[in-house]
Amino acid sequence: MFLTLAAVVLAAGCNAAPTNSPAAMNSSTNSTMKFPFQLTEAEWRQRLTPEQYAILRQANTERAFTGKYWNTKELGIYRCAACGEILFKSDDKFDSGCGWPSFSEIAAQGKVIERDDFSYGMHRKEVVCANCGSHLGHVFDDGPGPKGLRYCINSASIDFGTDTNAPNWSAPDKK
Ligand SMILES: [Zn+2]
Repeated sequence: MFLTLAAVVLAAGCNAAPTNSPAAMNSSTNSTMKFPFQLTEAEWRQRLTPEQYAILRQANTERAFTGKYWNTKELGIYRCAACGEILFKSDDKFDSGCGWPSFSEIAAQGKVIERDDFSYGMHRKEVVCANCGSHLGHVFDDGPGPKGLRYCINSASIDFGTDTNAPNWSAPDKK
């Protein structure tokens, strides 16, 4: 019992990685939801690096403090690395000490979808891009903002930029 409790407390805390597991992978595939931006698995593999594919499309997690954005403090926006949709703003990024980029807010309502993730015997909320369904990370309720949220996001799932007017990537024409 105590061990179970400890695991849950750890999972909610800052050291908790948005871990990958077979269960997480199953919950993160997009067989049941239709997203506006869709590609075939072959197209995803072509578009993304192997690391990005493993994280965005298979719900893997980069190791803490290894991603390119965990310590980024520049002003700009963070787009979905899979589809180009604007997801987060630097205004809402904070230093969580976790080793992953952390945000207290999403860029606009409806940009991400939350899904229950019961992997590892825990209940966490997985966060996926609302436009393409790609895995971004998890959201926890120990954040610093008024909403108390901490979006713990893989660097590999996002692209930083300063040009907010750049057009989103578009899906290739379906024949
Ligand atoms: Zn996306």
